Amino acid sequence: MVKLYKSQFPDISYLETGLIPYLFENPNRIPDDKELFNDVHTKQSLSYGQVKDGILQFAAGLQDYFGFGTGDVLALFAPNAIDFAFPALGAIAAGGVLSPSNPRYSVEELRHQLELSDAKVLVAHPENIDVALQASALVGIPKRNILVFGQETIQGILPYTSVLMKERRAVVTPLTPEQARSRPCYLCFSSGTTGKSKGVMTSHTNAISAAAMIMYMEDYNDPNVNTRRGINCLPMFHQYALLLVLHVSLRRGTSMALMSQFDLVDYLKTIQDQRITNIWTVPPIILALAKDPRVLQFDLSSLKFAICAAAPLSRELSTAFASRFPNIKISQSYGLTETSPSGTTELVNDTAHGSCGVLMPNMIARIVKEDGSDAKVNEPGEIWLKGPNIMLGYIKNKEATANTVDVDGFLHTGDVGVVDEKDRFYIVDRIKELIKYKGFQVAPAELEGILLKSPLVNDCAVIGVYDSVQATEVPRGYVVLKPGIDASDKIVSQIQQFVADQVASFKQIRQIRIVDTVPKTASGKILRRVLRDQVKHEQQQQ
Ligand code: AMP
Repeated sequence: MVKLYKSQFPDISYLETGLIPYLFENPNRIPDDKELFNDVHTKQSLSYGQVKDGILQFAAGLQDYFGFGTGDVLALFAPNAIDFAFPALGAIAAGGVLSPSNPRYSVEELRHQLELSDAKVLVAHPENIDVALQASALVGIPKRNILVFGQETIQGILPYTSVLMKERRAVVTPLTPEQARSRPCYLCFSSGTTGKSKGVMTSHTNAISAAAMIMYMEDYNDPNVNTRRGINCLPMFHQYALLLVLHVSLRRGTSMALMSQFDLVDYLKTIQDQRITNIWTVPPIILALAKDPRVLQFDLSSLKFAICAAAPLSRELSTAFASRFPNIKISQSYGLTETSPSGTTELVNDTAHGSCGVLMPNMIARIVKEDGSDAKVNEPGEIWLKGPNIMLGYIKNKEATANTVDVDGFLHTGDVGVVDEKDRFYIVDRIKELIKYKGFQVAPAELEGILLKSPLVNDCAVIGVYDSVQATEVPRGYVVLKPGIDASDKIVSQIQQFVADQVASFKQIRQIRIVDTVPKTASGKILRRVLRDQVKHEQQQQ
């Protein structure tokens, strides 16, 4: 019998309109001169009015210079910056779609994304402009359609600021509910349950309903939410920072300190000096806060609320954080790029360390066992999620879409969870082929494809192995060497280097095991479960 879990909260309504009018609606009547963002590293700041203006001015520039409009895609290849929102939301304000990518991507990784997204304009950063130029040449994006962050022309590439129309702000065309439901505004990349990374089409309605759901839960959990001061060090190319932190901060008009990369001491100093109340984290940040001795040198008494998401936060770590910071409420959340990225969130008046909380409003779930039947309370099964935030599908990939979102609208997450008697969710395993290194997605199939090109490797499999010292999974490769090659430390490092030369740093294979064979089914499919069971066994022995 089908067992449906329904959110314990009433369904909430949300506007079916374009994302930009929704973000700019200003329900809290924020004055234009209120400081919205400040950059921890450069000390620059931007007011609420400047952020809105920058977005609309860049949108006008996109329309005028490039004829950029409905359905056109802007690829953004840059680290966090105070003006990240200008090109990011400017693309959407001009009627188009934003496709953000990890600024550390290699040429091949960026090429893949540019090609799949059919990007018309690319905005890169001085630090990765070489990669941007090489990748865009491979897919035929002309140099004049490339812009770079900052004020300087670099290698003939104009700064994006030269495209800002100082005198003109784009007029954002309103969308009908049908258009809001069917038109994508984001194309973020995720490997889904299998294979290489795919473009997740997030509609305006997906993004707006997700923001409404997130804000409903924030209001429930955190009574001071409208007067909060936040700090964000999470990468804005990922939906966690983009849809959860940036959107909500704009909609509420709440102030945010921004960091381009995580540095513990800068982070702590900013929390202390700016009297930060709210943080958004991933487990390695909670690890540092819970255990690093430097934390004790700072006054963090302003901190009231921490969200932890994007990867599993263990019961042990959540407990360690709570005992060091009894006055900070911590809430673990769970979701996927494919859920824009809401799913579940922990209620601060009902915490259970290790749980990722309860379903957000408007969501229903099933927990489905391998035999297709629904799991009972406390029994594990695959988490299926349904709600207005479930993606439109994967771009140019009907097959992967159909394998992920079923005819009833349930997204098959590839995560294994249990639900307890109080409807709290716990993620206990993953059946999809995904590794999360410090919250970043690593697709095993991609690393296996690269390993197989090494002249030293005959066969291989890659899985994620949990490393409790770093509070993250790390990619581990099982490698069968070519005949005649003997295993040695030197061979292992040569193989690691071969991969490192071709991928972004977070995808490096941190561990290699030389083996005689890789376990496979009769049809040649890697039996990852066998490898994962071996790892569990090894870890129990330690
Ligand atoms: P992404 O699309 O990059 O956000 O990755 C989504 C995946 O991250 C999920 O399918 C989970 O495997 C994992 N994930 C996200 N949040 C959590 C969490 N709180 N606990 C365990 N895994 C998580």
